Amino acid sequence: IARTADELVGDLNKQQSEAVQYRGAALLIGAGAGSGKTRVLTRRIAWILSQFGAWPSQILAITFTNKAAAEMRERLTALIGPVAQRMWVSTFHSACVRILRRDGKALGLKSGFSIYDSADSERLVKIIATEFNVDVKRYTPRSILGRISDYKNQLIGWRAQLAAYAPDFKPGSRNYRISKFDNVEELYAIIYAEYEHRLAMANAVDFDDLIVRTVELLRDHPDVADYYRHKFRYILVDEYQDTNHAQYVLIRELAGVDAGETPAPTATAAGRQGPAWVTVVGDSDQSIYAFRGADIRNIQDFEEDFPNAKTILLEQNYRSTQTILDAANAVISHNEGRKPKKLWTAVGKGEPIVGYAADNAQQEAVWVASEIARLHAEDGVAYSDMAIMYRANAQSRSLEEALINAGLPYQLIGGTKFYERKEIKDALAYLQAILNPADDVNLRRILNVPKRGLGARAESIVLEYARERGTSFFDALMHMEQIEDMPTRTAKGLKAFRDLMASMSAFARANINKPSDIVAEVLAKSGLLEELQKSVDPQDQSRVENLSQLQSTAAEYEQNTPDATLGGFLETTALVADSDQLPNGNEDSGKVTMMTLHTAKGLEYPVVFLTGLEQGTFPHSRSLEDTAELSEERRLAYVGITRAKRRLYITRAAVRAQWGQANEMLPSQFLEEIPDELIDWKRRETGSERMRTGWGDGDEFGGWDDEDDFSSGPTFGTASYGSYGSSHGSAYGSGSTGRWGSAAHRSNGSRSGSTY
Ligand code: ATP
Ligand code: MG
Repeated sequence: IARTADELVGDLNKQQSEAVQYRGAALLIGAGAGSGKTRVLTRRIAWILSQFGAWPSQILAITFTNKAAAEMRERLTALIGPVAQRMWVSTFHSACVRILRRDGKALGLKSGFSIYDSADSERLVKIIATEFNVDVKRYTPRSILGRISDYKNQLIGWRAQLAAYAPDFKPGSRNYRISKFDNVEELYAIIYAEYEHRLAMANAVDFDDLIVRTVELLRDHPDVADYYRHKFRYILVDEYQDTNHAQYVLIRELAGVDAGETPAPTATAAGRQGPAWVTVVGDSDQSIYAFRGADIRNIQDFEEDFPNAKTILLEQNYRSTQTILDAANAVISHNEGRKPKKLWTAVGKGEPIVGYAADNAQQEAVWVASEIARLHAEDGVAYSDMAIMYRANAQSRSLEEALINAGLPYQLIGGTKFYERKEIKDALAYLQAILNPADDVNLRRILNVPKRGLGARAESIVLEYARERGTSFFDALMHMEQIEDMPTRTAKGLKAFRDLMASMSAFARANINKPSDIVAEVLAKSGLLEELQKSVDPQDQSRVENLSQLQSTAAEYEQNTPDATLGGFLETTALVADSDQLPNGNEDSGKVTMMTLHTAKGLEYPVVFLTGLEQGTFPHSRSLEDTAELSEERRLAYVGITRAKRRLYITRAAVRAQWGQANEMLPSQFLEEIPDELIDWKRRETGSERMRTGWGDGDEFGGWDDEDDFSSGPTFGTASYGSYGSSHGSAYGSGSTGRWGSAAHRSNGSRSGSTY
């Protein structure tokens, strides 16, 4: 459907309309919350297609979550028709998976490679650290992994780190011990290098690698880079303020910004002349992912980074009332070093913000629930128009209880995610090991799941053999007949396991296009389902339901995907984020939504409850003595406040339990930063509270250190993907992706590769 110009920009304001139509190689749409950035980006895509005459395949649109991508695609379909279905509208990570799947061979990635989620990666780091005799109490696998992730986000490779801090270490060394080191960087460098080595052996990438390896691919393989530069003529990125350095470089590489001279802007970017046209939209006041490497300078330096860049500012907010905007502007103005911007709205002043101070977290929750019930009953507000937001997932429990007791329908976004549940991860590990046998982490995970007498000892026998020969666990298993002194029972057990994998693998090969059948087969043959069904533990019943849900999900994927494969299905499970659990924008869930502030990014609700506004809760205790972190918390507050369209509630509790201990909490400094006349306090001081002056440093109230409590935006399950199409098995012992089969026909050296 070719849209007329008026249909695409007729209802936009002047700046929005200019941004939609701008002809030029680099455009930044910088603007405050709710000013229509996402809307403009979507319209611009439609404009490029219908007015510039571009092909859908020439467009790459990047959103922050899969859910945002689905929504943008939906809107585009409404604007331009079904061609939108074929366009690349996705997150950075999904786009990179697609690129690596097509061209990862150039990097030595074999098809069917696995993607490790943070739990898998942490396991791998723990395995290495323990082997290397590292004090894992002092240097936790999580903190080491955090460091590795920082390096990757900065595009600092392991070779550089090794050269600088541990030039003598050779990755893959056996029986290595880290005994003494002067500089902790040495420890990090060694584990980083070994971690990369083992990932490569396992034919796996971690989550950060999706970006890093794609950058490497584009940098080192001009033919591949040329293909994508030729293909994508328009690149558009939403939420640009939350890109990290690696993502920034990725955009430059894809666009070909550094590839030769920039010619003067042509009429459109459709021809293969010069770099792709890059449009980014963002708001530096909403940058809230610094802990994952997001670099606010990307947006601040856009004009210097991209030649002939144009900036368009949007100032009219279409989302909120003036009262809500005034509160947001007042809070964010306390951040230093930002460019002030003024947001205004034509909506009018609206209702005052409602404040409530509770004696404790339970009371806060009960009050929120009663207010929700009242809004629904008296003002006819739909439940789905209301959202409760909080800083950390742990805060949700008392709120949930209160909603349940009040009989209010709600949906909780986040928490233990479906794909992180043990039974789901076990089932996925089977599927992954079938697809990518070299994947040690997943293969070892299922060796004794369900229990089949192959405990730690059996595992270590095989492992030892693998180490000695420098092969994968899978290869060692295939050659277990050659392992000396193996107890007969162990040998029998291992052989049974190998036969089991071979038979499931054969089934998978024969039914590669029916992932739901493969899931069913794995659940039945592995014994996973049986073990749970036999259990009398009521929780196991819900685990059975989860597994059945997994099978349904596979069936659903199959129905919606013309060229469905097992690999394709696993890929969809790997890239799931918290926000993906939200229903689509125009569906009425009939439920109150509960989520962390991080997850709320980009969303809007008529009524928003911001809870837990206390020093040490929000702002978070870790940020109280660090200006940079406090600024980030304040941006999070700005994000939270600006999610509200009509009514905003702010609540706090005077006592909150942390680590099982009741702590007294001071009011959040953000409350103080909102002008008093904007707030209608329903209860201002709590029962026991005396007047206090000044703000405590929060430390005496204890703190939350557990990062698990935090929403960290998208989190990902494990998956592998790709088909067996081109995997060539090579000689034993090469650590290559092999194939499950009977040992008999594999026992005499090399064989030719099989294909799926
Ligand atoms: P955020 O910073 O939170 O991501 P945003 O700048 O992306 O916000 P949008 O979500 O695109 O803003 O728009 C906010 C709201 O304003 C949406 O409901 C959108 O439909 C509406 N809106 C934007 N522009 C206009 C306009 N010109 N006329 C009417 N409504 C508009
Ligand atoms: Mg937006």
